[in-house]
Amino acid sequence: MRVTVDRDQCVGAGQCVLNAPDVFDQDDDGVVVLMTEGPDSQDRDAVRAAGDLCPSRSITVHED
Ligand code: SF4
Repeated sequence: MRVTVDRDQCVGAGQCVLNAPDVFDQDDDGVVVLMTEGPDSQDRDAVRAAGDLCPSRSITVHED
């Protein structure tokens, strides 16, 4: 799995951080910060959930 984010599209809702705090963070403006493009196996379901829940569709999950 590889994950990418579109920071220009992010609306700062924070769903990603709530779901996968080891993979996503937010900067001082609330915009998503991706901490790793290659999530550990135990985080992958949470990353998929974050992608589904992101209201601005800013998270793209690339399954290998
Ligand atoms: S859930 Fe989507 S809109 Fe909200 S902070 Fe994360 S990437 Fe941005």
